[in-house]
Amino acid sequence: MPAQPSAPAALLDAVSTPLLITSEQGVVFWRNDAARRLEQLIGDSLDVLPFATAVPDGPPVELRCPAADGSTRHFRVTCRRAPGVPAEDGDPVPLLYEFTDVTDERAAQHRADDYAWRLNRIEQLARVGTWEWHLPTDQVVWSPTLKAMIGLAPETDLDYPTYREMIHPDDLGLVEAALDQAIRDGSSFTYVHRMYRADGRQMRVLQCYGEVFTDESGQPLRMLGTAHDITEIRQAQDELAYLATHDPLTGLPNRRALTARMSELTAAGGTTAALLLLDIDNFKDINDLRGHTVGDEVLRLLARLLTEHLPAEAVLGRLGGDEFAVLLPSCDADQALAVGAGLCDLVARTPLAVHDEPLRVTLSIGAAPLDSTDDDTLLLAHADLALYQAKGEGRNRARLFAPEQQRLAAERVHVVSRVRRALETGQLQLDAQPIIDLTDERIRSYELLLRVRDDQRRQIGPGEFLPALERGDMIYELDRWVVETATRALASARAAGMDLRFDVNISSRSLEDPSFGDWVVGTLTAAGVPATQLGLEITETTAIENLDAARRLASTLTSAGCRFSLDDFGAGYGSFVYLKHLPFSTVKIAGEFVRHADHGGSDPILIDAVVRAAHGLGMRTVAEHIDRPELVPVLRRLGVDRGQGYHLGRPEPLRTLMERVGSPDGVSATVS
Ligand code: GH3
Ligand code: MG
Repeated sequence: MPAQPSAPAALLDAVSTPLLITSEQGVVFWRNDAARRLEQLIGDSLDVLPFATAVPDGPPVELRCPAADGSTRHFRVTCRRAPGVPAEDGDPVPLLYEFTDVTDERAAQHRADDYAWRLNRIEQLARVGTWEWHLPTDQVVWSPTLKAMIGLAPETDLDYPTYREMIHPDDLGLVEAALDQAIRDGSSFTYVHRMYRADGRQMRVLQCYGEVFTDESGQPLRMLGTAHDITEIRQAQDELAYLATHDPLTGLPNRRALTARMSELTAAGGTTAALLLLDIDNFKDINDLRGHTVGDEVLRLLARLLTEHLPAEAVLGRLGGDEFAVLLPSCDADQALAVGAGLCDLVARTPLAVHDEPLRVTLSIGAAPLDSTDDDTLLLAHADLALYQAKGEGRNRARLFAPEQQRLAAERVHVVSRVRRALETGQLQLDAQPIIDLTDERIRSYELLLRVRDDQRRQIGPGEFLPALERGDMIYELDRWVVETATRALASARAAGMDLRFDVNISSRSLEDPSFGDWVVGTLTAAGVPATQLGLEITETTAIENLDAARRLASTLTSAGCRFSLDDFGAGYGSFVYLKHLPFSTVKIAGEFVRHADHGGSDPILIDAVVRAAHGLGMRTVAEHIDRPELVPVLRRLGVDRGQGYHLGRPEPLRTLMERVGSPDGVSATVS
């Protein structure tokens, strides 16, 4: 039987701390009332708890006790020897266990730990570290996140002198000046500085905010600061700023940077300077034949070549596409032209090593002196006009801006807007000129010719307005309008029981449009017009300058059944080599050879050669410009298949022709 507590032990019954007395072997032989109440609370005997892990006179242990109501209580258990208490038989001194309820203390600590954890986590997520500087003792406390940002473990001691050494030396002055100022004024502060990480190599950019706290007398007590790691943001900003002013392909200043520099020069006024506008000649051929990657490499290599040879003060930029510009400070017009000519020579004689294979390109250059205008946009336009002239005169040359070019440009703009107005108001019309079979003199087809019939006194013909339209994008619209108008007319003639054939002219721009051929075939199909009823004509010059595009379009059209004619053969290159490469159905012999063919000389010989070559290649021939009856027998003898000209039939409005379709007189001949 365990001994009963003596009178002093009974006194212990009255204290509120749960107490247990056990034998050395841990057998409980006495508990006070508070211990009994605790047993009621946990719904079990205290024997079930591992309180004996507290060793006599050792450090307290902490126990978690699940309470009967579902809550958890925490107790700190200490163990002492209790000499005054009677022991069991042979037992030395019994043990007294004291249970102190620390549940509230634990909860408070948990809350504090949780708060610290969350704060730390938020700092990590936001990449914001914090620090606190206690001014009277000069102690600084750095948050673990701030230490981690600069490559230090959380437990590392960091004093201000060490921290100071890690700040980029160029930024130290501004940091300390901002802190001094804040301490003097008791105010807030902000600065951005670079900071080396603990490894001394990597650098971070920190954006810092903070404030100073003072006592009632205004004496500064402490400073609180934040440091936000903005290294990546700063890098992204720097990259964006770089991209905003540089061309990513060549690394040169872009249009924006260059125009900003031009604006500075023009705004300064009175300065001698000039602008060169450089454009690679026939660059599209490089892209088409060798691919865009080679094209890109050409642009990069050219940028390098130009940079190496330009005077140091020149500013070279890429405006876009294959267009570069050079600002030449302190260069007058003549000097600029000389620099431009020098660059043309340099580029023409320096092969570019594209993937170790030499490739030659040439440049056309337009030069405009700054004194031609005080407006940088206009300066660019002037250089562009000069460039246009350089291209027009055969490329691989430099030309200087002249006011005359501006007048011509104004005329071009006027012509374009006149044609646009005519198109919108129905004053753009097609005339039809018959193409006659020279053997039976029957009409085989009609060539449709564009006419502007507006109220202006001065008439403009296609020879004048087409080159102007080819400068812009309206030419695409016009070519499609012609094909659509022709198709509609063919469809309504079919509806009236007549199968006509039309031939229309298309521009070099549509020739290069890879979707054009399919669009033509689709338009005919949609209107229910057989492809054999429409033919397309392109000039020899256009075909040869865009050989690949011509071949592509010719095969799309001829395989669908359309005719495809080479117009004006002989007026340009007159080379038979190209005939071999292009699947044309017809060669139209330029009027220049036809006009005097009945007078002997070289013309009939040349016509004979063309006819033989064309027939040998399975192509038909048409002689243009037959304006006298004497020409017909001569051409017939030479084997020319068809003819066209005032003698054989003048152009008449398509509308008039269509009015005759289905009338009793009919169109004079149908086609075969
Ligand atoms: P021109 O002699 O009249 O200048 O004829 P061009 O063939 O050089 O044609 P143009 O200057 O009108 O057009 C330039 C072409 O450059 C159009 C486009 O296909 C090509 N281009 C534009 N930007 C890039 C680029 O970044 N990389 C490559 N490879 N080609 C480009
Ligand atoms: Mg070009």
